[in-house]
Amino acid sequence: MDSSQYRDAAHTAIEDIIKYHDTIADRPVLPSITPGYLRPLIPDSTPEEGESWDAIQSDLERVIVPGLTHWQSPKFMAFFPCNPSFPAMLGEMYSSVFNAAAFNWICSPAVTELETIVMDWVAKLIKLPDCYLSQGEGGGIIQGTTSEVIVTAVVAARERIIRRRLVHIPESEEKLDKMAEMRGKLVALGSEHAHSSTQKAAIIAGTRFRAVPAPQSSGFAVTAAALRTTIEACKAKGLEPFYFTATLGSTATCAIDDLVGIAEVAKEYPDIWIHVDAAYAGSALVCPEYQHLCKPIEAFDSFNFNLHKWLLVNFDCSAFFIKRRKDLIETFSIVPSYLRNDFSESGLVTDYRDWQIPLGRRFRALKVWFVLRTYGANGLRKMIHNTIKVGEYFHSLLESRQDLFTVVTGPAFGLTTFVVNPTKVEGRTEALDLEEGNRVTKAVYEAVNRKGEFFLTSGVLDGVYAIRVVSATENAEEKYLKLLFEVLIKLAEEEREAK
Ligand code: PLP
Repeated sequence: MDSSQYRDAAHTAIEDIIKYHDTIADRPVLPSITPGYLRPLIPDSTPEEGESWDAIQSDLERVIVPGLTHWQSPKFMAFFPCNPSFPAMLGEMYSSVFNAAAFNWICSPAVTELETIVMDWVAKLIKLPDCYLSQGEGGGIIQGTTSEVIVTAVVAARERIIRRRLVHIPESEEKLDKMAEMRGKLVALGSEHAHSSTQKAAIIAGTRFRAVPAPQSSGFAVTAAALRTTIEACKAKGLEPFYFTATLGSTATCAIDDLVGIAEVAKEYPDIWIHVDAAYAGSALVCPEYQHLCKPIEAFDSFNFNLHKWLLVNFDCSAFFIKRRKDLIETFSIVPSYLRNDFSESGLVTDYRDWQIPLGRRFRALKVWFVLRTYGANGLRKMIHNTIKVGEYFHSLLESRQDLFTVVTGPAFGLTTFVVNPTKVEGRTEALDLEEGNRVTKAVYEAVNRKGEFFLTSGVLDGVYAIRVVSATENAEEKYLKLLFEVLIKLAEEEREAK
């Protein structure tokens, strides 16, 4: 494809993209295809001769769009959102044109320097404590996802505690034996409601994992006491807790662990690396009313949130802030001769390859810069406030039909969880009611998703099967929640009558 063909193709692609964007609410969210639908629609090998853009583009509507789940639909209320925006799309476009694998500063200085600057902008926007700014010992880096961030933090934490404990032993066979012995005892901790990425990171790092209880009585959040008890229980068994993920906005309910209390625990156990995972809810920190949550983060080691969830930056974009960047560099910096250069040796530049697991990296800062400038802080706050308002509206609808529904948690950052009430049956025990409630709730939940118009997710909270609704796309509106509510009422009534 030459420049002139690219011009024509890109113009038609942009028209197509705008049409998709503007008509998204008219499509059912979930595709109505069966597994393996695609293979019969696509040739089973690469064409020998190149094809025209027209032929390729027409296949999008024919074979790809029917198999899409439309995450940008206002009727997508599952998981957490994955919000794009036009300025972020433009950022992606330019990034793919410059197409650098900018691992060292000299590989493309603008890529590194813009990233450092926009991460400082983001840290200031959410009022993260100053220790996370690049001017001091800290700084921010963009990684792909929270899961990548947590693997990075867990591995750096593992190496940090080993360095600290074995610093007195000179490099030797004995030291290697001691390191292996110590690794076998290390335990990463996370709430029982922490995202599975912490457990996965422990597997990748070759350490143990223990869940800290976070029952309904503590609002599904980890308390300082629960964390202390788990740490001491590990130590009593001869194990060494070295890392803890505190969650600000858990996946199941958007619960916030007791960050203030946990900051006290951090002082008692300075060798435990505490990371705050705010994957979804972190975006709400652009609003002043949530910024008090950032204060205790001063006592921790690292923090991240996904701008690709709720802050209008296309996937992927997870902002990872670290209090002492040397904690990453001391673990990940390996400098073979082919990576050496005078700028790196001068100590005056940042080489982000030393802060992450991969070597190469994309120019993600561009899309962040475009979004921050296009919306401004107030535009972003408006987006967050709309989600919160829409979430509160849905909660009020549920409360208006307490005969049919019971709210379990929320609304928290727009997320509400609830159950469908089982029909009360004379003489039934509470245990049977729970079982029946779970059955009815699951049946209603599955019926909603089977229809495909809306997409919801569910979860089990202390044995209670609950439906989870969060409507946080940029085009979220009360009218869609009202439509969902009507569907829920109809299905709940049918399910109860069918008994
Ligand atoms: N942490 C929390 C609290 C989440 O809710 C999620 C996903 O929704 C993740 C981590 C994983 O995010 P990622 O896909 O960026 O790895």
